[in-house]
Amino acid sequence: MKIDMHSHAFAESIAERAMASLKANIPPDFHTPYDGRLPSLVRELKSHGFDHAVLCQIATKPTQFKPILDWSRAIRDGQLGEDAARMILPLPSVHPADPNLEAHVREIAREGFKGIKLHPYYQGFVLDDPVPLDLFRMARDNGLFVEIHAGFDIGFPFEDVCGPRRTMRVVESVPGLRLMISHFGGWRAWDEADKVLIGAPVDLEISMSIGWCATALLRSMLLRHPADRLYFGSDWPWSEYDKTLPFLDSLDLPADRQAALMGGNAARFLGLP
Ligand SMILES: [Zn+2]
Repeated sequence: MKIDMHSHAFAESIAERAMASLKANIPPDFHTPYDGRLPSLVRELKSHGFDHAVLCQIATKPTQFKPILDWSRAIRDGQLGEDAARMILPLPSVHPADPNLEAHVREIAREGFKGIKLHPYYQGFVLDDPVPLDLFRMARDNGLFVEIHAGFDIGFPFEDVCGPRRTMRVVESVPGLRLMISHFGGWRAWDEADKVLIGAPVDLEISMSIGWCATALLRSMLLRHPADRLYFGSDWPWSEYDKTLPFLDSLDLPADRQAALMGGNAARFLGLP
């Protein structure tokens, strides 16, 4: 089983505009050859032998709850093709300022989705503040996992709103929460992630660490973290499988650790057969 725990794609009607505005916000060396459309993601997954990808969506304002949920349903129900329905696992999103937060979290769970995605920079909150902590409790109590952006973000000033220490406070404050921590504990906060998260009982998805984190530290973190709590993620369309997959192979990890990382752990985490 080969699973990508972190991808993005946009509905046809907004893909072009969304990719243009995201690209306008980031330096050119971060640019991507991909168009961010769902059929392109499915094609890339198939050509690199992936069985599934988790699709992370972000409600940047409370009103985006419904269009995101509708598109997630359309993917799930096959309206965007059989391959997408089989391969893509959409994570809807809620905005912490949503006046109907609890009802919307319940609705996501009732629809059968496995989790939600939150991004503190794009949603304007600090990870371990009281409102998000309540939201994490609601997700836990409704059987949903939460995938969070972690560390800094290329599109925003480097102010710590979801660094490894804040993430650890969430883990300690909401026992039983199933938290998928992106970017190997914190994008460009890997020294702190190494001290605070590596070796702890936390689930770490490694997107955007390959090519950004120093190779020696990356390999050491991959070897020292519990083998059953590591997950491959790409952050597609922001990285290329043709670069990340050969790089991972070149690290020469023990075969069982690599297999767990590439999908065995994700299948278990997501409850896939
Ligand atoms: Zn992402």
